[in-house]
Amino acid sequence: MRMRGTIVGLLLLLLGAGLFAESTPLAGVLEQFKASLQWNPETETGYLDLSGEGLGERGDRIIFSIGSPWMVVNYREKIRTQGVRRSGGTLLFPDKTLEALNRYFELRALRRILPRVAAILIDPGHGGKDSGAIGYHTDKGEELRILEKDVVLEVSKRLYQLLKREYPDKQILLTRNDDTYLKLEERTEIANNIQLRENEAIIFVSVHANAAFNKDAKGYEVWVLPGDYRRTLIDTTTLDEETRPIAPILNVLLEEEYSIESASLAKAVLDSFDNFVGDVTENRGIREESWFVVRKAKMPSILIELGYVTNKEEAHLLGEESYLKKLARGIYTGIRSFVSNFESTRGFTE
Ligand SMILES: [Zn+2]
Repeated sequence: MRMRGTIVGLLLLLLGAGLFAESTPLAGVLEQFKASLQWNPETETGYLDLSGEGLGERGDRIIFSIGSPWMVVNYREKIRTQGVRRSGGTLLFPDKTLEALNRYFELRALRRILPRVAAILIDPGHGGKDSGAIGYHTDKGEELRILEKDVVLEVSKRLYQLLKREYPDKQILLTRNDDTYLKLEERTEIANNIQLRENEAIIFVSVHANAAFNKDAKGYEVWVLPGDYRRTLIDTTTLDEETRPIAPILNVLLEEEYSIESASLAKAVLDSFDNFVGDVTENRGIREESWFVVRKAKMPSILIELGYVTNKEEAHLLGEESYLKKLARGIYTGIRSFVSNFESTRGFTE
């Protein structure tokens, strides 16, 4: 008997928790959020306008309807909540609903300050009248002609697809997606036209293939590019009087940061190539000559040399679709590991 009583009591408790979960009446919510409400009685829809003094920012609007668990912020973002109930002459906001709203705005604020890669620009070298490196080979009477512009376009287009699928929220761009000739300034312009917020970065990946008089030379390597593609590092007009004198120092610090990031992106791609094609060709590393260039880098940017079209063995590989697929996967995996590292740790280390 005692036991049965306990169970009934427990059931009542559970039922009670569900039915009489804590809620806050409208007046309390408006006070807490520092918001005002517009109410449409016909559609039973509420428009909560935030002042920015409490929850969210000035101009934010939360829309909800009685009977729906979905709330919409600024006509764009949907949040699942426990909805809003009507009781007596007022509206009741369950605690879970308030929690969901608070959480949404906290995350949004966090997302805005955490560093993120907002755009990845892929630049297939050469194109059109500019073939880039050319490899001619004869193998058992068969002629093989490999053009750098074709190889790099194929790999870049595959890379584009992979990145696009992985990062629907990032801008993934190609400087060219067919056999057209682009001047360096035109490639630059594409990078410069990408709009970035303060905490956002763009990475630049140029794809090339190599040629050498020495027909034995083979393998992949990564160069670190000068970052002339990016806008000014720190615009001194945005600084206050006190900070302006140290702008040159800030610039040096930022330059160093971009250099380190470029090198780590280069390393990530090389490591990834090792996994995908390291068994059939060589890793030539990050070229030592690149280090003088690195000092000028203004955004993480690399130039990848996929291999040598002048090496007979490698030219055959570069002519195979399955090999180009591997190269694209290699770059993709390298970029992915760089991006997840960039976005997960940097914000917390300063
Ligand atoms: Zn090239």
